[in-house]
Amino acid sequence: MQRKHLKVNRQRNEHAKRLARNVCKFNSLVAYEDLSVKNMVKNHCLAKSINDVAWSLFRRWLEYFAAKFNTTVVAVNPRMTSQKCSDCGAIVKKSLSTRTHKCSCGCQMQRDVNAAINILNLARQVRDGQSQSNATGLATSTLVGENLLEQVARKNVESPGFPLR
Ligand SMILES: [Zn+2]
Repeated sequence: MQRKHLKVNRQRNEHAKRLARNVCKFNSLVAYEDLSVKNMVKNHCLAKSINDVAWSLFRRWLEYFAAKFNTTVVAVNPRMTSQKCSDCGAIVKKSLSTRTHKCSCGCQMQRDVNAAINILNLARQVRDGQSQSNATGLATSTLVGENLLEQVARKNVESPGFPLR
């Protein structure tokens, strides 16, 4: 029983390390929502990949690899990241079960993609503001949604090859 537990912990650590390394190595800017555990577990799709231990592990590795690869890591306020249209900025109200973002401006995409673009845009604002004041780029946070972060991470800042629609 104890051995099995140790094995799970080791795998969890390896996963966190690998994910953090890839995210930092291949992106100059990494953005994530500063979400609370309480809000995350309401969404069972996210909850299964997220818990306190996994997140604190991931945070540690993220900071480690951010320093190693000179990656800017920014935690952004999750307020309105899902509701806001990433194209025109309009607020498009949707419940958690609404999976598609559909705006009157014609913008239509998967809700997490829309949110990921908003998160990245917010992070860019933070980064650009900080580069003017020469502050360090590493922000702090308490939780991340792994799948959301992976989506954000895929949208490389220097070469945005992510389909916007
Ligand atoms: Zn719109």
